Amino acid sequence: MIHIASFAGKNVAVLGLGKSGLAAARALVASGAKVLAWDDNAASRDAAAAAQIPLADLRTADLSGMAALVMSPGIPHSFPAPHDVAARAKALGIDLISDVELLMRSRRDASFIGITGTNGKSTTTALIGHILNAAKRATQIGGNIGTAALSLEPLGQDGIYVIEMSSYQLELVPTARFDGAVLLNISPDHLDRHGGMDGYVAAKRNIFRDQKSPRFAVVGIDDDISASIYSDLVEAGECIVIPISGQGGVQGGVYAQRGGLWDSRHGEPVRFASLADCPTLPGTHNAQNAAAAAAVALQLGVSAKTIAEAMKSFPGLAHRQERVAERDGIVFVNDSKATNADSTAKALGCYPRIHWIVGGRAKAGGIESLRGFFPRIAKAYLIGEAADDFAATLGEIPHEKCGTLDKAVAAAWSDARQDGKGVVLLSPACASFDQFKSFEHRGDAFRDLARDIAQQGSAAA
Ligand code: ADP
Repeated sequence: MIHIASFAGKNVAVLGLGKSGLAAARALVASGAKVLAWDDNAASRDAAAAAQIPLADLRTADLSGMAALVMSPGIPHSFPAPHDVAARAKALGIDLISDVELLMRSRRDASFIGITGTNGKSTTTALIGHILNAAKRATQIGGNIGTAALSLEPLGQDGIYVIEMSSYQLELVPTARFDGAVLLNISPDHLDRHGGMDGYVAAKRNIFRDQKSPRFAVVGIDDDISASIYSDLVEAGECIVIPISGQGGVQGGVYAQRGGLWDSRHGEPVRFASLADCPTLPGTHNAQNAAAAAAVALQLGVSAKTIAEAMKSFPGLAHRQERVAERDGIVFVNDSKATNADSTAKALGCYPRIHWIVGGRAKAGGIESLRGFFPRIAKAYLIGEAADDFAATLGEIPHEKCGTLDKAVAAAWSDARQDGKGVVLLSPACASFDQFKSFEHRGDAFRDLARDIAQQGSAAA
């Protein structure tokens, strides 16, 4: 646990007692802060009470004299409407901060790498962590991914915290200053929480706040908004700015081209890694993630050789094109995290012949935007509420309404086996909530079903 010396003896309010909020409250109490905590959810309050966290209804409690309000990033403080407690704290001029802000204030000696972007944050964060571990650097990975910021281990001067930063989180770190900051890409997302696109982009830009050389910014230039942020940073000339691309050559940066990763930071481009050797990083989207992670590691002094080797052994993340089983040459791929058509497009683009399990609770637009990939579909297996609509969109493309995931996996395997080629891909382009608790729950179920099939194969052999 992290000791938060600067809050010892101070009054602090904590709003939101999920994983990160509870860890923050515990760390504050253990550090001698006078904590008052609240969560609108009774079960979360019970969990906090069991952990000896002092509770008070912050909607009515006296907030004057609070040194800060530590908020869970998921709770609105501005748009679409501020939570009552956030509104009261703001009216009193109290700082709204998050657990990451507390971590950064507590470990001033360590280095901090922040990663943001609309897509690819978790993959890039995990990949940077994997490379730094391979390089035997003292590293802790957390934030929006995995471990809550204040449950991480304390690191000293040589330590590096690699922190995934959502746009919500970036609005709650008023004094944060990253030694290395990564912006992968920007497309419209969470606009209700940021009062529109300008607010969303402004939140993302916070990752570069107060960066002066030798601090560095790694910026994707594959979309127009990120590219214009890159130009602004170059023009401001305050920190080191490294452009990255998953789509082709970039002067003075790190990029993917012709199946390799290239470093042109010092002039002449040098090819230093082969993406073909990295089975867990398929597609141009992952090429962007790989280029960003490599840029950070190079900038931190890790050798190109170590980076190339580490990328080969990156285990990848669960539920994101995760290869979960194989039988008779047919690979089962779990892409349950793909809860909308944009994400599913990334997966469909990676395989030439697909037995595609798709469906759930549809998002606006359904799978219309995926028509361009339909020639790759050997057959689609429809599950969940979206089945009828998706069947209509698929039209002449072979498809079957399976209803549930178990039936879909069995049918897809039977066809793929006869076919003798292709992948069985769960990439639902839908939310999971009609049949599952979460996308993780859906992906776990797929993994179990696929592994059962693979095991039956080994038992029969
Ligand atoms: P995040 O943490 O930002 O949600 P993840 O690394 O968890 O991102 O990836 C989630 C999904 O987003 C992936 O399954 C893939 O479909 C898509 N994705 C990943 N990286 C990128 C990228 N660089 N650009 C566009 N889409 C991506």
